[in-house]
Amino acid sequence: MASLGRHIIVEYYDCTPEILNDVTLIQESMEGAAEKAGATIINSTFHHFSPYGVSGVVVIEESHLAIHTWPEYGYASVDLFTCGESVDPWVSYQYLKDAFEAGHGSAVELKRGEMALLSKKAFDIQQLRDDKSADDGSPIRTKDVWFTERDDKIALSLKHDGKLYDQQSDFQRVEVYNTQAYGNMLTLDGMVMTTEKDEYVYHEMITHIPLLTHPNPKRALIIGGGDGGTAREMLRHEGLDEVVMVEIDDKVIEACKVHLPSIASALDHPKLNLIVDDGIKYVKEAAAGSFDVVVVDSTDPVGPAEGLFSVEFYKEVHRILSDNGVMITQSESPRFNNKVFKEIYQVYGSIFGNERVHCYLAYIPTYPTGMWSFSYSAKGDAHPLKGFDREKSRKFSEVHDLSYYNESIHESAFALPNFVKKMINK
Ligand code: SAM
Repeated sequence: MASLGRHIIVEYYDCTPEILNDVTLIQESMEGAAEKAGATIINSTFHHFSPYGVSGVVVIEESHLAIHTWPEYGYASVDLFTCGESVDPWVSYQYLKDAFEAGHGSAVELKRGEMALLSKKAFDIQQLRDDKSADDGSPIRTKDVWFTERDDKIALSLKHDGKLYDQQSDFQRVEVYNTQAYGNMLTLDGMVMTTEKDEYVYHEMITHIPLLTHPNPKRALIIGGGDGGTAREMLRHEGLDEVVMVEIDDKVIEACKVHLPSIASALDHPKLNLIVDDGIKYVKEAAAGSFDVVVVDSTDPVGPAEGLFSVEFYKEVHRILSDNGVMITQSESPRFNNKVFKEIYQVYGSIFGNERVHCYLAYIPTYPTGMWSFSYSAKGDAHPLKGFDREKSRKFSEVHDLSYYNESIHESAFALPNFVKKMINK
């Protein structure tokens, strides 16, 4: 390595002014340029100036990318600085030229820190370790490494001590972070899926409500749920003969078995039939009336999960449910994605009948807004509250030492705030 770093100083000309003035687009482009070149993003910050212009930096493990734009001139100046051999900054140069629709670009590469001019200083590396790492010898930890999930208006950031898993599968980017506040955390395409410290809310609420209200559940199906949390909770119900789980991405299963073992603990359970396949295809091919409870534990309606939010898919679920069967889905956040939320309940009502569709809420700190919803749709007479056996629920929660679910939470979860009732005409 002839030099410590490569610094490409870039000028983009005749770019589309609207693009150069769109801070979200600039941020996405700069982060995309880093990832395309194989860099690992640590953090980024972007600022929109008034009346126009954007400045921003993406800090990567291999150094940084920085930008300042002059939309009024269709001009952007960019610095691409990388260390080591793993990242090719010229890939970022071309990516941004296309993203900014630049008429032309000019760039010059500087070698930074020419080795021939450098000599290593004799010093005690231990001095550089921060207090914590000095004590137990753990790797040097930079102070502010944050994971951030954001959309154009809301962001959630979690401080972490590094990434434990990072694979691009055929379907999505599968990552596991070691967060300081919530333990190990699984993200898919940059969205929080589950964390060790709050997963129990989601997994207890998506399973025990249907399985304690269905008259006699014997066979259950999980679509998605690759982290294993839903299967773990389902298999607490000894009355079940079989749980079938159809997860499309084996990388999710692999990552969770290794880095989230407390969640993935039942993935080798003898009653679990774990199938790696597309849930849409599985449901289409499954026999009519063959499941008592179907839980759709999917990601948001993007990528491989898009089809899991379609009318066709729900009609197929209705078909494979037994006469008294119940379908449960994670139905997004009424606060965060209210358009999808409203549509979901319209569709369920059209297939199951409005009076047989119920919404319940739970609070998951690491999900956008923290307010999350689940839907309970009954094919027959099963009902989440009518005839609800409080004592059975209380005992179940006690015997299994559950952390969130109990008989009062069960009932109160269906008590909806007015704004939610209005959204789904309840
Ligand atoms: N609790 C999370 C949430 O609410 O966002 C979901 C967790 S779980 C990890 C979601 C799983 O659905 C992922 O592992 C993903 O691979 C899987 N999935 C997405 N589309 C799928 C499909 N068409 N068939 C089967 N599994 C699918």
